[in-house]
Amino acid sequence: MILKIVQAGDTALRKKAKQLTRAQLAKPETQQLIDLMIATLRDRPGVGLAAPQVGESLRIIIIEDKTEYHEKVSDEMLIAQSRKPVPLKVIVNPVLTIISPADKSELYFEGCLSVDGYAAVVPRARAVKVTGWDRHGKPLTVTADGWFARILQHEVDHLNGDLYIDTMISRTFMTDKQYSKDWAKASPDKLVKFIAKTALSDKKEQNK
Ligand code: ZN
Repeated sequence: MILKIVQAGDTALRKKAKQLTRAQLAKPETQQLIDLMIATLRDRPGVGLAAPQVGESLRIIIIEDKTEYHEKVSDEMLIAQSRKPVPLKVIVNPVLTIISPADKSELYFEGCLSVDGYAAVVPRARAVKVTGWDRHGKPLTVTADGWFARILQHEVDHLNGDLYIDTMISRTFMTDKQYSKDWAKASPDKLVKFIAKTALSDKKEQNK
């Protein structure tokens, strides 16, 4: 069974999700929810899913970045983004700490299964640490950099009612179709120039 992914505008995406107790996590319905979230993420496919995206106000995120998903990205972009495969991770009650840099200066395109059909450049920190529990309530700590760190920031944002569209560089917002055509295989250099140009036109607007 695949769950329905709610879309931007749905109030479920804007609530602060609730912490789980170990007893609640151990319940068959919670374990089934996690299994269904995994099936739903793989079906799309996507690299991350948070419980609020399937209408459940609970602090659960899942992440999986398979090598096959990297075929759509240029090799030099994978290196720039420090994107490596991430085996399936279920994190309950995650607490995220930014390691570096505090100003979230990593600028790359990302998308969201709840803002279906679009992408934009979003500033993120390069490295983060996340503590929480695995699906059985066992404590875990994850330190991540590059793309994995980006996914973690994106998913934990969901638990706080935040979407990438809240912090994106809005002038880079575009359809998936346009992204695939112009950016999917682009070089990091081209992206840096595009952002500089876009940020510049932003400033011109502000000075008017
Ligand atoms: Zn998302």
